[in-house]
Amino acid sequence: MIYKTFKNEKISQLGFGCMRFAADPETGEIDQAKVNAMFDLAIREGVNYFDTAYPYLGGKSELAMAEALSRYPRGSYYIADKFPGHSLTAPIDNIALFKLSLRKCRTDYFDFYLFHNITEWSVRYYESEEFHIIPDILKMKNEGRIRYLGFSFHGGPELLESFLNKYEGVFDFVQIQLNYLDWTLQDAKRKYEIIVNHGLGVWVMEPCRGGKLAVLPETESAKLKALYEAEGQAGARPSDASYAFRFLQSLPGVNVVLSGMNELFQVEDNLKTFREARPLTDKERSTLFEIAENLKKGVPCTACRYCCDGCPVGLDIPYLLSCYNDYKFASTMTPSMRIDALPEEKRPSACIGCGQCMHACPQGIDVPSALAELAEMYEKGPHWIDQRKARARLIEEDLQ
Ligand code: SF4
Ligand code: SF4
Repeated sequence: MIYKTFKNEKISQLGFGCMRFAADPETGEIDQAKVNAMFDLAIREGVNYFDTAYPYLGGKSELAMAEALSRYPRGSYYIADKFPGHSLTAPIDNIALFKLSLRKCRTDYFDFYLFHNITEWSVRYYESEEFHIIPDILKMKNEGRIRYLGFSFHGGPELLESFLNKYEGVFDFVQIQLNYLDWTLQDAKRKYEIIVNHGLGVWVMEPCRGGKLAVLPETESAKLKALYEAEGQAGARPSDASYAFRFLQSLPGVNVVLSGMNELFQVEDNLKTFREARPLTDKERSTLFEIAENLKKGVPCTACRYCCDGCPVGLDIPYLLSCYNDYKFASTMTPSMRIDALPEEKRPSACIGCGQCMHACPQGIDVPSALAELAEMYEKGPHWIDQRKARARLIEEDLQ
């Protein structure tokens, strides 16, 4: 197992993400025997980092993780959990919720604790004086209930930079969506560099982009196969996922790579990939970037901002186009949450289609068409605000 040293902690670079355990589709009950078997194998092979969050699997992830880990000494593994500030619709007793998570995880401290899902939209709740989240969680850290504090982040690089500047010295690590596709699609390269420049640890989520890089389209997968065969290597060809993980092994700032495993064969395959570091060759790296370009379905905006000054309604065009590109790859909650953060007059529907931006754009992007399509996709949903209500209800019930 590859281990990374972080502030004197020896952490397995492969972290077990506990958000995808198999559950009975009717009852929602998690297959605990399967979780135990996956944990046993992972622990036997050296995995010592387990990541959960209060809302995962309707609140059952913390419980299933704790049950599986209860068969091992507490000091032999690290637990990471998260505070769901992005799910709150009104102020709550933050400390009571934090302590509830501790009880569910059968522990009296978290090794790693994160503010869950900071974006341009959710940051207002985390920073709200009324919600009082940051001071309460810092109190828990000062009382020794949290060893290392971080946050998971889904916003743009500008917010990341300003947030870290504002809270210099508060955080130890940042968890971002990082993979060879988002390296350019979500500006993850810049986010990675910002975190490293602040001297913080980089934790990775979505290394295979929700499985999309784990099972590539046939034509793209064939490129990796050809590469492997050209190198004259023997044995079974490595999985597509292994290349995505090895891309991350090539980045020296990456401490932990979380993989949400729900099948034993995934655990086995990942363990094989993380047995020893095998950074990508230049050829493998360039092939992955070629694949990433083919997977993208959006527009080639470079965020040069040449178009912004001439926009009569003052839209942040590159920001909107990055949401557009995200939507085009996969319809997830993240771009909708980023648009939610904008006032009505800065959303894609505010574009009047004047075409000024097209004259300024060196990439020849048809911005008004892209924004019209974005407005439609956003309108259609799903919207985080609706899901948040269900999450907030769960928290309310749990705290009663
Ligand atoms: S087409 Fe839309 S985005 Fe482009 S300059 Fe006009 S209003 Fe702004
Ligand atoms: S000018 Fe074109 S490439 Fe530059 S930010 Fe605007 S849309 Fe993107």
